[in-house]
Amino acid sequence: MAKGNIGVTSDNIFPVIKKFLYSDHEIFLRELVSNAVDATQKLKTLSSVGEVKGDLGDLKVRVSIDKSKKTLTISDHGVGMTADEVDRYINQIAFSGAEEFLEKYKDKTEAIIGHFGLGFYSAFMVSDKVEIFSLSYRDDARAVHWTCKGDPEYEMEETIRSERGTDIVLHISDEFSNYLEDSTIRGLLNKYCKFLPVEIVFGKKKEWKDGKQVETDEDDVINDVAPAWTRKPSELTDEDYSKFYHELYPDQYEEPLFHIHLNVDYPFHLTGILYFPKIKNNMDVNRKKIQLYCNQVFVTSEVDNIVPEYLTLLHGVIDSPDIPLNVSRSYLQSDQNVKKISSHITKKVADKLAEIFKNEREDFEHKWNDIKLFIQFGMLTDEKFYERAVKFALFESTDGKFSTLDEYREKIKEQQTDKNGDLIVLYTKDVDANYSYIERAKQKGYDVLLMDGELDVHIIAQAEQKQEKLRFERVDSNVIENIISKDDKPKVELTSGEQDALRYTFESKVSNGDKTHFYVSTEAVSADALPVFLTQNEYMRRMKEMSQHQQGMSFYTQMPDQYTLVVNTAHPLAGKLLADIESATADAAKPIVEQLEAAEAEENRLHDEQKDKKPDELTEAEKNAVDEATKKVAALKNDLKKVYADYAKTDERVGQLIDVALLAAGKLTGEALANFVNRTVKMM
Ligand code: ADP
Repeated sequence: MAKGNIGVTSDNIFPVIKKFLYSDHEIFLRELVSNAVDATQKLKTLSSVGEVKGDLGDLKVRVSIDKSKKTLTISDHGVGMTADEVDRYINQIAFSGAEEFLEKYKDKTEAIIGHFGLGFYSAFMVSDKVEIFSLSYRDDARAVHWTCKGDPEYEMEETIRSERGTDIVLHISDEFSNYLEDSTIRGLLNKYCKFLPVEIVFGKKKEWKDGKQVETDEDDVINDVAPAWTRKPSELTDEDYSKFYHELYPDQYEEPLFHIHLNVDYPFHLTGILYFPKIKNNMDVNRKKIQLYCNQVFVTSEVDNIVPEYLTLLHGVIDSPDIPLNVSRSYLQSDQNVKKISSHITKKVADKLAEIFKNEREDFEHKWNDIKLFIQFGMLTDEKFYERAVKFALFESTDGKFSTLDEYREKIKEQQTDKNGDLIVLYTKDVDANYSYIERAKQKGYDVLLMDGELDVHIIAQAEQKQEKLRFERVDSNVIENIISKDDKPKVELTSGEQDALRYTFESKVSNGDKTHFYVSTEAVSADALPVFLTQNEYMRRMKEMSQHQQGMSFYTQMPDQYTLVVNTAHPLAGKLLADIESATADAAKPIVEQLEAAEAEENRLHDEQKDKKPDELTEAEKNAVDEATKKVAALKNDLKKVYADYAKTDERVGQLIDVALLAAGKLTGEALANFVNRTVKMM
């Protein structure tokens, strides 16, 4: 028997392995099964070049548990190891047999998993003792038995073994007795080994007999040795892709929308299949669905730095031996290979979408609402993707028609260019709520887009920023004549006294709260627009919407919603109302108006007089005079407001017109709505 010390510099290598090398203890199984698969693949390669003769026999890798002995065993019928090789490959940690082998058989080998560094030693993370029983494929080989108790000392002796290959026997420490449970091991094999290229057996298949599950004679193979991504796209049908999707995500019932088969040889190796899942509103729900493999061994579903963020919404598999696996996340980010992989995937995804858009436009439009969140997310966060996607990203009109931005510009150019040459895109977030506005826009021959997606407000901002002379306006932000202003406005001139009369009358009847504020203005819009209507500033509203998704913009969220109640003086009803107000209030208003005019004239005169002086040059008396005049103007205005407020109390039409404006804007609810209904009935 040979005894020796494992060839590492520090006596403390095992605690280091246990603590720092892998935080996930469970990966020991991945490492050992991968080694077994490697050894099997090597044997196949040797056989294919004639270095191993004859029938290779059963090549399955077996994983088994012996509860009474507290052991977990991984057995293979691969190349095996001679005592010499155990010494070189196992005892001298830094020596990676896999790499040496790869070098020698570079061009012929099937995929070799040898990229995980100190793979074998991870067994000590969960074991008190590890044994190797191995018989090499070489003609004159003698079987070897190696034992190590987790310190740098090992024992090695010759043993008797007739089968070629290796058994790795782990004596599981009490602390990790969960690794002696069938369900735990099955779970881990499913997670890490489901797509390994050599059959992995764990126990026997079970079947139902007489109401009980009983073992059959058949090996239970847990993996698919040729998963779809390792095969040629030309060999696969849509059904195969769908089947593989469900194999990857057994809990997923929905069908994926599209798939992309990745296959890159240069400048790095990468294969995989990405799926566009059905996603709608919640962006976080389906994250972390892409699985990263290295030569068919599962590595992680943390692909954050390998694919751009918006692609983490996709599902599927990426397999690349060129992604460094045992390095820190921050290193990954700056790794050149990883950057290339990321931009390649972006390009592939965009190409595929462009292809479907071009060749199967109808299908693309049909699926647009399911994929738009992801495409828009990409456009907003990745300039390169934007440049490609802008050619196929769609806008949907309220009549269900789809257009790209370029197509849409062309479609509305004639009608929707305003008098300043700006192209105005009309949109709504809610067809029902904006029904009357949309109808009026359509009557004018305009088109209205439906923009009800979570990211639409940002897409609008992006489009406006990138396109010249293009502006989006929500269809209810103003009356249509004002949104797309042309040179054909009616001319109705009101004196400032007439404007005040209308304004004060209506102001007295609107109720302002903490959350909403109404301004009243008068404007000659059009005889066929409503006599009174509500507008909301597009910019303010958008800022508030955007601020919901962004930090540091809570200032906007706290602001009240601001609306303007516009009295449309071009409408005959407004003219009639003004005439009635004036005749009813003439006696009360006239003297106040006269005094007010005089007070305002005085105030202006004082301002004029003092305008060239600095504040500290003014005498006390001069300051007082201005204060007095200002107060007087304010007091008279209040008196005047009161006159109109008194009038408003006597004329039901004022409140009624405001309610109609609110109703048209979908803002009349609850008690106010009930009152409106009752009042309307009474008036008739
Ligand atoms: P790596 O697999 O990264 O090279 P390991 O520590 O896992 O590192 O394994 C070291 C070497 O031991 C392997 O490269 C291989 O040559 C040899 N080895 C490990 N397990 C087996 C096995 N089951 N059959 C044959 N050789 C093995």
